[in-house]
Amino acid sequence: MGQNQRESRVYRHRECGEETLVDGMDFTYVSHIFYHPKQTFCASCDDYFPIQEFEWADTGECITDWYARYAVKFKGLNRILADELFVYGVIILGILVGGGIGFFVGNAWGIWGGIGGMIAGVIVVGFVGFVVGVMIKESVCRRLLGTEDFRSLL
Ligand SMILES: [Zn+2]
Repeated sequence: MGQNQRESRVYRHRECGEETLVDGMDFTYVSHIFYHPKQTFCASCDDYFPIQEFEWADTGECITDWYARYAVKFKGLNRILADELFVYGVIILGILVGGGIGFFVGNAWGIWGGIGGMIAGVIVVGFVGFVVGVMIKESVCRRLLGTEDFRSLL
């Protein structure tokens, strides 16, 4: 979402007081307010430590408090819709429905038509399920957080 999109962030290991820059996929993992890692890396100590021993260097907030502060906004149905598992569920539903309909329709041209129809249905409706699932997940995140990118949350 535009200006406050972040590619990296610095956290501080409270035990040693040293800072570590996190970016790329590591930043995505560490920023996941629902499925965050139990441990993260301190460049100074050259080792992994429990995530609650770290704070964001720019705000001084303990990273686990930061997770909790945003995760608590997601209640009931919103929590389900904002979950990756929901997206996978919609994809699987799309695969089953698309495969079933594709087989049923294609089968009018014989068994190979049925198999071809099933494969086409799985791909097309499975992909539609993916798009729809991600759209719903991101719209819930935007409504509750103002962004669908957890990395941009301060
Ligand atoms: Zn350290």
